[in-house]
Amino acid sequence: MNLLAAIGCTPLVRLERLDAGLPVPVLAKCEHLNPGGSIKDRIALAIVVDAEARGLLRPGMTLVEATAGNTGVGLALVAAVRGYSLVCVMPEKMSTDKRTALAQMGAQVIITPNAPPSSPDNFRNVAARLAEERGWFLTDQFRNPANIRIHEDTTAVEILEQTGGRVGAFAAGAGTGGTLTGVGRKLKAMVPGVRIVLADPVGSALADWVETGTPGPDGAYAVEGIGASEPPENLHREVLDGAERVSDEDSFAMVRRLVREEGLYVGGSAGTNVVAALRVARRGDLKGPVVTVLPDSWDRYRAKPWMQGWT
Ligand code: PMP
Repeated sequence: MNLLAAIGCTPLVRLERLDAGLPVPVLAKCEHLNPGGSIKDRIALAIVVDAEARGLLRPGMTLVEATAGNTGVGLALVAAVRGYSLVCVMPEKMSTDKRTALAQMGAQVIITPNAPPSSPDNFRNVAARLAEERGWFLTDQFRNPANIRIHEDTTAVEILEQTGGRVGAFAAGAGTGGTLTGVGRKLKAMVPGVRIVLADPVGSALADWVETGTPGPDGAYAVEGIGASEPPENLHREVLDGAERVSDEDSFAMVRRLVREEGLYVGGSAGTNVVAALRVARRGDLKGPVVTVLPDSWDRYRAKPWMQGWT
């Protein structure tokens, strides 16, 4: 066995204190326990395996990705085990911990301004340009269908096994949309009446888009890895039944509760997801538990003001 076999098959735990008194349980998939510390280990491995199988990638080549950090860490791990070089392009708003960690893992890190998708300086556009100019393989998490597929084939299948097929709703944020589209699509195929809900930071344009088809205004927020000013290609609207808007304040307060009351050492987007999942559970019109994911570990955020304030 090598380390890549340790990706996935994460525990699904009940949030016993947080869901007390609610009509249905709230269950959280511990993606922070993946070897690279996030749900993105799954897609990093899936994208590389898929590209190798299609003859697009051979060991010794260079991978390039536009990543806010977690996909970079997953790719660094896969690159180390399978013999690739890695270049990560990230916007400057991302935490210095994430940047430093990637460089320490041996990746070349390129920082871009916080530019909108239409700008040539936007991190995704820079990564695509570098891939073209230098002959690097663009792993392309925002568009690559292997991202959605691995969540259908692993994350969703594990949830179905771990719940015995009884799921009332699934709620999660969307960065690339891979988790929500993949898990949502599989659950909809297997569980009649299941509700798929986007957990969106206040300031992201995606919740409006889910509800009306038109993205909302673009605002600022501090939760990392989820939300966007425009819908990513891998987020498929037809899978979604609704959206919950969650403020930074509520997300970060929930992370503190997850750490202190449940022993779950997770990052900011886990707070967003759990706030949304608890709201969905509270409505009381579901036949089974609400499931969510805890996308990453707290260690990448401990220098951030929102977590420094806890001591
Ligand atoms: N939370 C964090 C911390 C992330 O890095 C990401 C990925 N960008 C997500 C949630 C969302 O996952 P997905 O890309 O599958 O939508």
